[in-house]
Amino acid sequence: MENWQNYIGGQWVSEPETMPAISPANGETIGMLPKSSRETAQRAIAAARATQGSWAATSVWKRAEICEAVATKLDERRNEIARVVSLEQGKPLAEAIAEVTKAASGFRLAASLVMQMRGATMPAEDPRKLVMTIRQPRGVYAVVTPWNFPVNIPVEYLAPGIATGNAIVWVPAPTTSMCAVMLMRAIEDAGLPPGVVNLVIGEGATVGDEIVSHPDTNGIGFTGSALTGRRIAERGAGKPMLLELGGNGPVIVFEDAMVDRAAEAAARGAFLNAGQVCAATGRVLAHRDIADTFARRVVEIARDVKLGDPLHQGTTMGPLNNPKLAQKVREQVDDAVASGAKLLAGGKVRPDLGSDLFFEPTVLSGVTRSMRINREETFGPVVPILTFDSEAEALDLALDSEYGLSVGVFTENMARALSFAERIPAGIVNVNGASNYWELHLPFGGGSGTKSGLGRLGGMLTLEAMTEIKMISIHRE
Ligand code: NAD
Repeated sequence: MENWQNYIGGQWVSEPETMPAISPANGETIGMLPKSSRETAQRAIAAARATQGSWAATSVWKRAEICEAVATKLDERRNEIARVVSLEQGKPLAEAIAEVTKAASGFRLAASLVMQMRGATMPAEDPRKLVMTIRQPRGVYAVVTPWNFPVNIPVEYLAPGIATGNAIVWVPAPTTSMCAVMLMRAIEDAGLPPGVVNLVIGEGATVGDEIVSHPDTNGIGFTGSALTGRRIAERGAGKPMLLELGGNGPVIVFEDAMVDRAAEAAARGAFLNAGQVCAATGRVLAHRDIADTFARRVVEIARDVKLGDPLHQGTTMGPLNNPKLAQKVREQVDDAVASGAKLLAGGKVRPDLGSDLFFEPTVLSGVTRSMRINREETFGPVVPILTFDSEAEALDLALDSEYGLSVGVFTENMARALSFAERIPAGIVNVNGASNYWELHLPFGGGSGTKSGLGRLGGMLTLEAMTEIKMISIHRE
């Protein structure tokens, strides 16, 4: 069994304390991981700091070239990395392959965008001044990432961070740290100088906390739960930060919608990656007139899902990633049923498939406002359906949420769609599309004042967020 290591200052290093990596599909130990200490995280910060100046001074062309080289390595190793993603995270191999493909695109995108970054000159009231702005890297970035897209989400920070001349200390989720090592190896082999990216594996509350709160990190990139996001905002107060947190839909289906299309999009949005997606179909608000037709179609799709070993061909849904999450999903579904919701499909744990993390694709009707499944983020393969009778009620149900990440609105009435899109405090509204529609270069993030986060990732927006504008004036008298 492999002992996986940290990567600090260009060296692969072991840690005295270790923790097991566990397969969600069968509960077996598949590797040993470092359980790093705060001191190890501090060494990684020091390594990043020691290198950052020279990396920032490296030509943009060279930085872009290395990002391109990482993309090539990821393409070459796509299947090998995807296998580890399936094994450790639990998603079907086809989804894992798609994830690694996107990760390579993320490095290519950063390489091309960094060449387009611009400063400006601007007129000054004082005629003796020449005023210009330049963009500079912020310095050392603390990057903390979750397990649901263990390659792609880190790339959303690492690629723009590397391209713009930052150095990075990266703490991945403990349950997908082998995936992190696979990505780190590709970055190393592409020729990134030592210290520019440092990987520290361990528990978030220890090493994650150390890197976000340490005075020698200058910026924070975090994707994860709203609860941890809040803690990080406090611990890293004063630093520029991107916080990509949770969501809870909704997908709203009006009576004039193409119901089949809405059902297919909502089901896809709920079942992809076993629902472990921040922009998943968290809940569906369906007009009473079409709710039954909608539910029937979603149930058909749920029955077609092939739940099983993620590495087996033909599997379309794997296990949930970890026991804590699986317990929460079970509790949410049980609470809904106990409070009067009707189970139309699924709802059961399937230990016979290899572990008790396999959860059937589930459809619930008769869900009401106060149920946990409506109020909380459900990070599992569940489609909870609430009904409404009027546009006003739909809007009220949509607004009655602490989250505001991504929404789907299905209607043939574009005026109504636009009016909803404008009024819902979410970062993303997809009209006649699933809530989880995403492309690398498009703005992604939570609505202000919600628990879904702060700032926008996506394309140039991330490069801008990871750099700062410096104003330089030259007095010419
Ligand atoms: P989590 O918040 O439990 O953990 C995320 C990361 O934070 C992990 O690496 C963890 O080790 C670390 N961490 C935990 N406690 C910490 C602390 N005190 N200080 C610093 N780091 C700490 O979330 P998770 O369960 O890994 O991920 C699922 C969540 O992520 C869901 O809520 C989901 O919606 C969200 N998510 C959001 C997006 C987005 O772009 N908005 C994308 C994917 C996932």
